[in-house]
Amino acid sequence: MKLLSYFRGEAFQRGVHPPGCKHTADTPIRRLPFAPRLVVPLSQHIGKPSRPIVRVGEEVLRGQPIAEADGWLSVPQHAPATGVVEAIELRPSARGPWTECIVIRVYEASTQEVLWGTPQDLDAFPPQDIVLAVQRTGMVGLGGAAFPSHAKLTVPEGARVETLVVNGCECEPYLTCDHRVMVEQARDLMTGIRHAMRATGALRAIIGVEDNKPAAAEAMRRALPPGSEIFVEEVPTKYPQGSEKMLVTALFGVEVPSGKLPLSLGMVVNNVGTLAALGRLLPAGQGLIERVVTVTGPGVARPGDYRVPLGTPISFVLDYAGAPAQARQVILGGPMMGQSVASLDVPVTKGVSGVLVFRGEDMAGREGRKTFPCIKCGECVESCPMGLNPSMLGMLAARREYDAMGEQYHLGDCFECGCCTYTCPSNIPLVQQFRVAKQILREKAAA
Ligand code: SF4
Ligand code: SF4
Repeated sequence: MKLLSYFRGEAFQRGVHPPGCKHTADTPIRRLPFAPRLVVPLSQHIGKPSRPIVRVGEEVLRGQPIAEADGWLSVPQHAPATGVVEAIELRPSARGPWTECIVIRVYEASTQEVLWGTPQDLDAFPPQDIVLAVQRTGMVGLGGAAFPSHAKLTVPEGARVETLVVNGCECEPYLTCDHRVMVEQARDLMTGIRHAMRATGALRAIIGVEDNKPAAAEAMRRALPPGSEIFVEEVPTKYPQGSEKMLVTALFGVEVPSGKLPLSLGMVVNNVGTLAALGRLLPAGQGLIERVVTVTGPGVARPGDYRVPLGTPISFVLDYAGAPAQARQVILGGPMMGQSVASLDVPVTKGVSGVLVFRGEDMAGREGRKTFPCIKCGECVESCPMGLNPSMLGMLAARREYDAMGEQYHLGDCFECGCCTYTCPSNIPLVQQFRVAKQILREKAAA
C-alpha cells in the first residue's frame, strides 16, 4: 500500500534504554472497590478549573455531572460513585498546592453500574458536535498530560489534519495500563479512533506501538474494521518514544519543528487510553469517572492494572494492592517523568497513569547519592532526544543564568524526559534544575 511507504518504523535519534520492568503486562485489569470517601478536584486538567453545580448535602448518582466546564479550555467533572456531597473545600493536590475539591461520602450500597447518561448516535453528528460531545465527557489526555481532549481535537481555522497518530508506545518503565487497554479494549479503541477521525477530518489513523508489546499489536490488528484507513505500526522500543514528537519522527522520519505542534505537519496525536475511553463513553453519553492505573513497584504485594474510580485516595489504592504503610517513595506516573508524592491523602486524578512504590531497601544506594562536578563526558548530549546540550544548560542553571538557558540553549524545547539525568555519571540532577529554571522563566514572563 502506498501510504505505508511513508512509515519508517525506525527509532528517533538518541534516547535511552532503561530496564522495562513491565511485570504487570500479562495480568488482566481488575476493578478497585469504592473508597468510603472520594475527593474529586475541580482542576484535574490543564486550563480553568471547573465550577461546582452541586451543593453540600446533595445526593449524587454515579456518573452524574457535579461540576461544569468554565470556558473553552476547561472540562466538567462527574460523580465517580453514588453518595452524598459531604464538602466542597480545599484539599492538597499531588503537585503540592491545595485545590478546591468536591468530597463525596460513598453509600455502602453504591453500585458499579453507571446511572447517568443518554445514548447518542455520534455518526449523525457533524464534526463540531462530536468535539462538544467530547468536552461533555470531561475527557483529558490520559497519558499524563491532562490536556482537554476536545481542545486537542479542534482543528484551528486554516489548518488541516491528514493523520491521526495514536500513541500506544507506553515507553516509561513499569507502566502497563495502556498495554492492557490495547489488549482488552481494542474495539473501544477503534470506536474512539473513528470518532476522533471524524472530529478532526483525518484521512487515516496510524497506531504506533512499541515492539515489546506484540500481544497489544495483535489484538488491535484483529479489531481493525475491514477496509478502514486505520493501521497498526510497530516501532523499536526506546525511551522516550511515547513523546509526541519522537513518535512522529519514528513513524514518518520527519521532525516537528522547534516550538511547533504536530499539527504543523497535519497530524494530531492522541493516547490509546484516551481514545479507548472515548470509544466507550461517547456512544453511551457518559462522563469520565474512572481510569486504568498501573499499581506496581518492588513495594507492592498485588501489583497490577486497576480500574480506579477518580478521587480515590492513593492510601486506599495502596492498601488494596498490598503496599506497606512505610513505603519510602511513592511516585505518580512512571519513574522517568513521574512525581513523588509527599502525602498519600491525595486522590487519583485523570492524569495519573501509575502509582509506583519503592521501599527503603530499593532506595539503598540511590538516596543521598553524592553529586560530582561535570566531567564533560558528553553522555547527556548523546542521550537528549531534542538535540539539546544538557551539560551546558546544567552549568548555566548552577550560575542562575536562566535567560541564557532560554534564549541561547533552547530550554523551552526540553520536555523533561529525564534521559540526561539518567545517563549522567556525576549524578547531576539536570532535569530537576531545568524544571526550576523553567518555572523561574515563566514567573519572570508573567511579571
Ligand atoms: S530532560 Fe530535557 S535536556 Fe534532558 S534529555 Fe530530556 S529533553 Fe533533553
Ligand atoms: S553527563 Fe553529566 S558529567 Fe557528563 S557531560 Fe553531561 S552533565 Fe557533565
